[in-house]
Amino acid sequence: METMAPTTTPTGSWAAHAATVLSEAGFRRGGARAAVVELLDAQACALSAYDIEQALREEGDRAVARASVYRILDELEELKLVSRIDVGQGITRYEPIRPGGHHHHHMVCDHCGRIIPFSDDGLERAISRLARESTFAVTEHEIVLHGVCAECAGPGGPASPPR
Ligand SMILES: [Zn+2]
Ligand SMILES: [Zn+2]
Repeated sequence: METMAPTTTPTGSWAAHAATVLSEAGFRRGGARAAVVELLDAQACALSAYDIEQALREEGDRAVARASVYRILDELEELKLVSRIDVGQGITRYEPIRPGGHHHHHMVCDHCGRIIPFSDDGLERAISRLARESTFAVTEHEIVLHGVCAECAGPGGPASPPR
């Protein structure tokens, strides 16, 4: 019996999980770190340090300097709370590692740079089977599909080739 994983709808449980892990690691609650965690938790997919800085600035009173955003992301990565997503555009993005939960991969539009999350049970099963049958110990996997998004493809295909 297969059930479809939810594709969006963040539950808020990751922020609570992250707060626990951070406090056990000796970090003080609140402040810039909590703002970054709450922002990431509300996303369906990954954000870059730049995205995070911009989003917090737009919230008004929660501006956090870029250097602090990077430091916080390093701390979260160190504690295995976020994973780094690098899809080959020279931009590193960060995504919450949700406990026991939602796992997805990425389609990248090589025209506009948009990243579209996707998940597929059949794909996950195929990777598990491959992992069992191979002599290679698979500890994690990430799948990136490159192409052109629906918006860029439009009715008559991409307007111009990617730069
Ligand atoms: Zn994602
Ligand atoms: Zn596109």
